[in-house]
Amino acid sequence: MIRTGIRIQNESISCIGQGCMGVGGRVSADTSSDAEQIQSLQQGIELGMTFIDTAEVYGAGHSEELVGRALRGRREEVFLASKVSPEHLSPVDLRTSCEESLRRMGVDYLDLYQVHWPNPGVPLDVTLGAMVRLREQGKIRHLGVSNFSLPELKRIQCVLSSVPLFSVQAEYNLFERRPEEEMIPWCARNGMLFIAYSPLDQGRIVGSAIVRKRLAVVASRLGCTPSQVALNFLSSRGPVLPIPKAIRSDHIRENATACDIPLPAPLLAEIDLECRVEVNLVPWRQIRPAADSSGEHRVCTTIEEARANPAGHSPSPLELAEEIRGDDQIKPIRVTRIEGSAGEYRYNLAEGRLRFWAWVLAFNGHRDVPVLVRD
Ligand code: NAP
Repeated sequence: MIRTGIRIQNESISCIGQGCMGVGGRVSADTSSDAEQIQSLQQGIELGMTFIDTAEVYGAGHSEELVGRALRGRREEVFLASKVSPEHLSPVDLRTSCEESLRRMGVDYLDLYQVHWPNPGVPLDVTLGAMVRLREQGKIRHLGVSNFSLPELKRIQCVLSSVPLFSVQAEYNLFERRPEEEMIPWCARNGMLFIAYSPLDQGRIVGSAIVRKRLAVVASRLGCTPSQVALNFLSSRGPVLPIPKAIRSDHIRENATACDIPLPAPLLAEIDLECRVEVNLVPWRQIRPAADSSGEHRVCTTIEEARANPAGHSPSPLELAEEIRGDDQIKPIRVTRIEGSAGEYRYNLAEGRLRFWAWVLAFNGHRDVPVLVRD
């Protein structure tokens, strides 16, 4: 089946979107490849990937600046989405953040404004009330959220009542398939868009060698690439919009045409069955909380540090622990195996450092940690 686009709440959304994390830098601004980044975004738009996802935090605002420059004179061609950071969820800060995003992009309104991460330190109804006011003022057309659990989404739906939540954004790729269990079906039932971030597992395509091998076989049978099979599979699972980030021209072309390749139902079923990665439960003391290799994020390395939160994470590990105790849910932590380890540690902590400590604090170390093991 060839997919042409997604209809949600009377909007027509492209089948594949463009992610902008890393465009203009990651944590701080990087201006070294501005022209190339703008050209890539424009190529993507010309090829039909008209949904654009950025955030105030990407490149400390520079991502939004480059998106704005790429859109000059063609604002109406795109569905423009940005995100507000968790430390800006009070009404005053939220309004300022939104106005700053609009200014950086040189636009009058956003098609979608998303809460990037929950912050238990600010009551949800207060944040949502401020979002609704931005909508009434015409600064944003739709509201969305990102990185919220299903119980939280249900609470949001109750709080919003008459204003529909437009979208839910979460990590979804062939390595992290949990959203298929409940969240995507819930979005489908409620007429919401599910935005799949890191759909190519941050360029690894999939963090498991077995799945990668399987994808390569399917791709060669179809005469396309493993990335195209992966993106196509994700969008076959409901109202799912994958938003890969790409700067290379060949990647952009591949992504834009991923849904043009018919994936017959038996093949989809085969991928579904053969590309499953199990979540493991591991005692927290077997996981070595190594420092962030990129050096971009301040991380805790001991339980005392996590409790004291000297890095000033907002929300703090203790605040997140409170949430986890309530919902009893967590996105699995990413770990890598320590080969030939004779010591206490069996795994290195690769991603999800804040969640890891929040889980340990939530259950005082008495509950094993859900992990996905990367090859
Ligand atoms: P991703 O899109 O899964 O992977 C990006 C990487 O894949 C880049 O290195 C890119 O290389 C490579 N790539 C792109 N197309 C490819 C292809 N056809 N074949 C092979 N490699 C390909 O990872 P992501 O950037 O983490 O996620 C995408 C977007 O999701 C972000 O940009 C952001 O908008 C959003 N996101 C949101 C959150 C959140 O908390 N809400 C978190 C993470 C990401 P080149 O760039 O060299 O082409």
